[in-house]
This record gives sequence, structure tokens and C-alpha cells, in this order.
Amino acid sequence: MTDPILPRIRPAIAALAPYRQGKQAGPDAYKLSSNENPFEPLPSVAAALQHTTPINRYPDATAGRLRARLGARYAVEPDQVHVAAGSVSILHQLILATASVGDEVVYAWRSFEAYPSLPLVAGATGVQVPLTADARHDLDAMADAVTERTRAVILCTPNNPTGPIITSDEFATFVERVPTDVLIILDEAYAEFVTAPGAVDGLAERVFERHPNVVVLRTFSKAYGLAGLRIGYAIGNEKVLDAARTTGIPLSVTSAAENAAIASLDAEAELLERVAVIVERRTRLVQGLRAQGWDVPDSQANFIWLPTGERTDDVAAAFVAADLIVRPFSGDGIRISVGEEAAVDRVLEVASTLR
Ligand code: PMP
Repeated sequence: MTDPILPRIRPAIAALAPYRQGKQAGPDAYKLSSNENPFEPLPSVAAALQHTTPINRYPDATAGRLRARLGARYAVEPDQVHVAAGSVSILHQLILATASVGDEVVYAWRSFEAYPSLPLVAGATGVQVPLTADARHDLDAMADAVTERTRAVILCTPNNPTGPIITSDEFATFVERVPTDVLIILDEAYAEFVTAPGAVDGLAERVFERHPNVVVLRTFSKAYGLAGLRIGYAIGNEKVLDAARTTGIPLSVTSAAENAAIASLDAEAELLERVAVIVERRTRLVQGLRAQGWDVPDSQANFIWLPTGERTDDVAAAFVAADLIVRPFSGDGIRISVGEEAAVDRVLEVASTLR
């Protein structure tokens, strides 16, 4: 039988692999592949899900209550806040809003797996700038990579999957080198886990005020534990965010997600105590691995990076065989989320057999 004739797919899309999630964990396994929060939802957050808009009604298309709440918290106008179904949606919206055929989008590599497809889906070209030997953004090289075709630059701090941050000074120097009509997306998905002094914090430093071309991205998926509800936000210039609102699919943020995000902000102190616990576990994990001789970069997020190079697939298989679902990047390294206390113990135990 001959293959049926299918609709023509754009070559740039046909060449891409669809997004695939890390392996799902079995009942006895620890899922350490997606940088999720290992804690159960707080009762107050779970209760907020009971009070949603009736499900036969559409949600508020603008997530107005959450934007007002975030606006008050960061002392910005609600229109300087944009909420979408995960910060990955906002990345997508911003790239669609700025880059098209013939344009370039600069980002570091290796970094968040979603970045390479964003310019390609928009018809634009991605320009990857290798990380430094210590797994950090090479901001000088990234500034050098900006051309008259560049429409956006994505910076990831702390960097997924390697862990290091960008400092305030490095960021300040970088911004001065980039033309003001180029969008700079500061992806701070893991900001709440940062303890290093001198790390850039786009919201605390209000970088978007001095530099209207900078948009700061945050998410409720990690520190706030709402990954399954899909909700993230951006803060920046109102007109830039209007462009993201235009390219976004309307009505994607559910009332359940908006309610849970507001309940999480109400319970922030308690959630940040959990973040502090993860940070302690991170320190224990990094120190333990280094004591075993692993060359682990400084992580300021809720995951760590094992540079395993050519051994990556074999080492990852050994973790999976021990019911530790980790995220391998073939030929490069393995990202391991900081999960339950017992998962940290088991990672250390298994890692010690793999040196
Ligand atoms: N940015 C970075 C750097 C990430 O690692 C992730 C999630 N893995 C996201 C953005 C997207 O998070 P979400 O869409 O859940 O908000």
C-alpha cells in the first residue's frame, strides 16, 4: 500500500523533533528528570482549586486578578505583567512577536531544550553561543554574536541544565553592548533557588525600567510547585508585553491555575521554607558528588549537572536501573533534579559506584 498523501508541513517544522518529556517514573522510582518540586501541594493551594470559575465558563482572558496581585507585589502596573500557560508559552509568544524569516535569535548552548525550536517555529534562525568551560554563559561572545539581523537574545539564569548564574555586573555590561531595539529575555525560571551573592535578579533590580528592551520571565512551576497547572509570568515594558499578548493563544490560562497561583503567593513564606530545604539538599548533593571526584559546576537551581561526556548514556542507564529517572543529554552530561531527601541519598550512593 502506498503512503497516503499528507498535508505539506513546512520544511523547518518537519526537520524538528516534537517536544518529548523525560521518562515517566514507575511507582518505586524517583522522578528527577524535569526539575519539579518534590513536595505535595499545600492544603490552601489545593483548596483554591475548588473555587474556580464554573468549568462551562471561559476563564478571565487577562488573568486580571493575578496580574493585579503581581503588579502590587513588584510595584508595576498590571499591564507590565503578562501571565500565560507556563513561561515556555511566553518565550514562544515573545519570539513570534519579534523574529521572523531572515531574523536571528541568540542564545547560549547548552541551555533550556525549548530554545532551539522557538526561532525555527517563527521562521527565524537560532544562533547558539557555546557556554564557557565552567558551564556559564559567555556574555562577551553572546554580545559579539549580535548582528543587525538579531531581534532577540535569550539569557537563562541560573542556566538549565548546568546550574550557574549570570551576575548583575555581567548582565549590566551585556545590556549596554546590545542595541536597544533588540529584545533581551531574562529567563529566571529558577530565581527563587538562587543564594549566590551578586546574581542578577531582574525583578529586584527592576532592570526592565532602565532597559525597556528587557523582559524578565518567572514561573510558578518550580519553587511554587504548580508545574501541572501551567502558569508563568513576565514583567517588562507594557508595549512589548502587548505584542506577546497578541501572538499568544487567547484564554490559555485556566481559572484553576490563576487561583492556585494567587493562593501560592498568599502562602509564599511557607513555600520559600521548602525552597530553603531544596537548597540544603542541593548543597549536600553537590558537595557529596565533588567529594567523589565528579566535576559538578556550581548550581544555583533545583538541579545539578554531571558532565559525563561520551559515557552519558551508560551512566544514565545505571541511574535508571536504580530507579532514579534522570535527564541525559547524549554525549554531554546528565541533569539531576534535587528531589526527596531519600532521592539525594540514592543519587550519591549510585554515583559513587560510577566514578
Ligand atoms: N525556562 C527554563 C529555563 C526552564 O527550565 C523551564 C522549565 N523546564 C521553563 C522556562 C518553562 O517552565 P514553565 O513553562 O513550566 O513555566
